[in-house]
Amino acid sequence: MSFSKQLKQKLRSRLSILRRDKPAVLGFLFHGLFQDAREIAAAHVDAQQGITIEHMRRFIEHFLQAGYRFISPEQDESGLTDEGRYASITFDDGYANNLRMLPLMEEYQIPATFYITTGNVEQQECFWWDVVFRERALRGVEKAEISREQKMLKDRHHLDIITYLKQQFGDNCLHPWSDTDRPMTVTELQDFAAHPLVYIGNHTRNHYLLDHYSDTEVLEQIQLAQNDLLEWTGRLPVSIAYPNGNFSKTATSAARNSGLKSGLTLQKTKNRLPLAGNFTMGRFTLWGNQNIDIQCKIFRSDISL
Ligand SMILES: [Zn+2]
Repeated sequence: MSFSKQLKQKLRSRLSILRRDKPAVLGFLFHGLFQDAREIAAAHVDAQQGITIEHMRRFIEHFLQAGYRFISPEQDESGLTDEGRYASITFDDGYANNLRMLPLMEEYQIPATFYITTGNVEQQECFWWDVVFRERALRGVEKAEISREQKMLKDRHHLDIITYLKQQFGDNCLHPWSDTDRPMTVTELQDFAAHPLVYIGNHTRNHYLLDHYSDTEVLEQIQLAQNDLLEWTGRLPVSIAYPNGNFSKTATSAARNSGLKSGLTLQKTKNRLPLAGNFTMGRFTLWGNQNIDIQCKIFRSDISL
């Protein structure tokens, strides 16, 4: 991070004391949960926010100390008050490394919600962006260059992305390398979902960016994931995290027509209760390479600079 950005962050976190912690639900998006910096450096995945267990602990303690209660968009909202301060931990994709969250959830007695891309779980295939990242990193390609390739692929049809990967890196390129990169197995997901602090949500069948596809494809992606999750966990999710945060009118109506009650985006906005009925819920992102407390203070603040 640049020096001027660091200064600005510090200023924002100091100013946050003037106006913060208004009643709201703050959503937070996570992807992987890493043991430590060494696991990130092994480059089996594109670490994205690079959040380790220690970062997560700091984040949880910050919000608990500030008087926030952790809740899930999947939970029954009766009993929550619109005057409360709430935070919601959400993980997208369904990485097996998310199972490491459970000891922390038990220690602090807090729920978290896991949005699952069910096709990857069923097929035990890695996520395409991780394949691009690790294969290029292995060949010594710079991060900026890898990001450009990922960005270029994002706009393609999912089936074309898979064809591209296989052409570039071989037919087995989607096979997991380790516990860092693989999705949960169906059995792991079943056991995990049975825990009272674990909530499971929809992240589509194949991680389609829902604003890129036809009405039929969007509906199918949402409903296939609903069916998978019902079959595996015995419960139908009531919320969806739109892959990449991308949504459209088609996506929100498809979600509604599939019986879902809320949709999670990547808009950096606070939410109000009830979450049910909100199909454009905002979520913030925490970065492991920046000061955790400073970021948390800024999330709590209602001052924007
Ligand atoms: Zn995702």
